[in-house]
Amino acid sequence: MRDDSTGREFARESIAAQALGWVDPETRAIVAPIHPSTTFLRDPDNQYRSGRVYGRSDNPTFDQAEALVTALEGGASSMLFASGMAAATAVFLSLEAGDHVVVPEAMYCSLQSWIRSAGARFGLRASIVDMTDPREVAKAIVPGETRLVWVETPANPLWGVTDIAEVSRLARAAGALVCVDSTSATPVLTRPIDWGADLVLHSATKYLNGHSDVLAGTLTAAREGDFWERIRATRSQIGSLAGPFEAWLLVRGMRTLFLRVRAASASALAIAERLERHPRVLSVLYPGLSSFPGHVVAARQMDGAFGGMLSIRIRGGEAAAVRVASRVSLWKRATSLGGVESLIEHRASVEGEGSRVPKDLLRLSVGIEATRDLIADLDQALAGD
Ligand SMILES: *Cc1c(COP(=O)(O)O)cnc(C)c1O
Repeated sequence: MRDDSTGREFARESIAAQALGWVDPETRAIVAPIHPSTTFLRDPDNQYRSGRVYGRSDNPTFDQAEALVTALEGGASSMLFASGMAAATAVFLSLEAGDHVVVPEAMYCSLQSWIRSAGARFGLRASIVDMTDPREVAKAIVPGETRLVWVETPANPLWGVTDIAEVSRLARAAGALVCVDSTSATPVLTRPIDWGADLVLHSATKYLNGHSDVLAGTLTAAREGDFWERIRATRSQIGSLAGPFEAWLLVRGMRTLFLRVRAASASALAIAERLERHPRVLSVLYPGLSSFPGHVVAARQMDGAFGGMLSIRIRGGEAAAVRVASRVSLWKRATSLGGVESLIEHRASVEGEGSRVPKDLLRLSVGIEATRDLIADLDQALAGD
């Protein structure tokens, strides 16, 4: 999106606020319509010149959402899915049976469990490594066999930071693709493609939409090509598309993305710094703290802030952590993240059986309420007992 008078590219804040400056050519409306149609008219000569055939392949309401994500990520093309999991599994389902992938130990738990169960049943071979340590990644990559390296940074729920440039360099040298789950960083703070990644994933359910009222996922490709078209075919074949209303709400949510992410990041840093000194808190896991092991890489890779996600470990173990969560009043005890309202959860309870998350850990998704109110509520919740 360019300034007509100067030819200068607008800043991404401006592109997001105006959703690419879209204007309806006929009505001059500045908000796009929703197209519920699942089918499209064939031309009299039996062609489909519109490029649209049936709603399981795409929908005109997707165009603006996909173009906006592409612009914010600096990619070549994006695709919208029914959820983050639909987008992530489409990547793995587009590989061949027997392909080798390298995935992180610490990552979004439902995706790791899918890779270990359904993925394995369909012949995927996965090495699970500490992705924050490039030496471990280098050891796990098998040249000629590894097709994909999966990165999540900062990674759920310990917020470990992976050096995207370093992992991308290792993967490229072995002919493997890199897909970065950038849900928690958002395009406001990290653009994985600029650091060498091939694909970027978002659970758009989280920050991109930002209001806890849409399930959606996106993939963005650094470049188009055979693998990208295979993912497009997978989406159409298994029907893992978002609905047009969700696509429309997502565009509306993305207009305020920069404001929301910056406000949440500022509050999260203030909360992290305060809790780090709290006697009831064993440790604070937040990439913005200089004491955090991934801080140096995060400071290089993230644009001036560290996001709205942090975790705290409570002295006294699981029971004490659950009691702290039970006493909040402004924070909402709920899973998910990236919405305008602040959420707190005992993560091990959500992940259930087999979770390796420390039992004393509470995950915090910082919203856009007044920082003062958020801190006061945590202070009183921690002061109980
Ligand atoms: C929520 C989440 C997902 C899955 O997204 P859904 O929209 O819930 O399917 C994937 N990765 C991360 C990091 C997430 O937080």
